[in-house]
Amino acid sequence: MNITDVGHLTSDNDDGDDKMIKALKREGKPFTFEAMQEIARKYETAFTEDLKALNIELPDAMPRASDNIAEDIEIVQKLLEKGSAYKTSDGIYFDTSKFPSYGTRGGFKLGDLREGARIAINAEKKNPRDFSLWKFSSTDLGWDFPPYGKGFPGWHIECSAMSRKFLGQPFDIHTGGIDHIPTHHQNEIAQSEAAYDTPLANFWLHNEFVNMGDTKMAKSGENFITLQTLKDEGIHSLAYRYFLLLAKYSTPIKYVGLPVLLGAGLQSLRREICELPEGGRINQSYKDRFLDAINDDLNTAVGLSVLFAVRDDLKISPEEKRATILDFDKVLGLELDKRDLITSDKPIPEAIKKLATAREDARKVKDFKKSDELRDQIQKEGYEVMDTDFGPIIRKKL
Ligand SMILES: [Zn+2]
Repeated sequence: MNITDVGHLTSDNDDGDDKMIKALKREGKPFTFEAMQEIARKYETAFTEDLKALNIELPDAMPRASDNIAEDIEIVQKLLEKGSAYKTSDGIYFDTSKFPSYGTRGGFKLGDLREGARIAINAEKKNPRDFSLWKFSSTDLGWDFPPYGKGFPGWHIECSAMSRKFLGQPFDIHTGGIDHIPTHHQNEIAQSEAAYDTPLANFWLHNEFVNMGDTKMAKSGENFITLQTLKDEGIHSLAYRYFLLLAKYSTPIKYVGLPVLLGAGLQSLRREICELPEGGRINQSYKDRFLDAINDDLNTAVGLSVLFAVRDDLKISPEEKRATILDFDKVLGLELDKRDLITSDKPIPEAIKKLATAREDARKVKDFKKSDELRDQIQKEGYEVMDTDFGPIIRKKL
């Protein structure tokens, strides 16, 4: 896991502005290296916080691109020496015609790329798919790459350089979103293999998207939600983790407000497990089934179904259930040994809670006219009540 705090263009296809330069303009900051670092650190901190909230283990090293420029230059130099790269007026490019399997790796077909779309933008490129390894700087910012000039590394080269330095080449597993298959990962493979005549990684794992209803959640745009958006809606980050684990990582999933219900589901599961007595043994046959699922390309959906099978199995003791499920949780990371899931940073106001309780009471005596009135009142205050199998849930209206 690395932090590309420089040289990342707005588009994967090497066009558009440098993301950092764009951020400086957006935030009205001066064009200095310090201001750039400040912005990068802000997002790096937010990212690390989100990882922690999702109970994702932090890697031993999370290198920053800005600390590893010499390694980028080393690869570019090597590619120039081998004749796999060339210089134009705005940067140094990888010559894709020198890498015959370009764009066909990992089951990808070159025909899927939009052909010719970039020719008009950069007439100096030898082939439309050639990509930049180094971009010359149009401001005072940048690093020296003698004798070629001051500039920034391309995004793809940073990933190749840092992974080689910290993991070795080839390293075992490279992960990323499916959107990285057509460009970023093809480019990484091409430049790393062309420079060192050895594969970059042994396996490539690509995760599918979380879709907002029927539309894809874009990296920018109105339907983009962050972990903070969920928290503001009273959805616990681990409920979101639970939601993600219910489908295998390589399966697209739809986000349709479901995590609210899953929060209730996770809460109920936690309570159930916490009420089981301690001191049991791990059930080996269930453990084998769970590991088979996880070892089968991280099939967490099947893994969770094994967990539910343990929970519902009348033949094993409550102690054994608890021990076995908490053993699975070392992988799932849902903190099932904690009883209560606090679903919101912002507590629901007491007045709203009272209205909800009154509504519950009205429902119990089947006074639906009154319960509907109370529901309307709650909605007017900007909250809503959802009736679930686990009882009513109050949340801020979306
Ligand atoms: Zn990479």
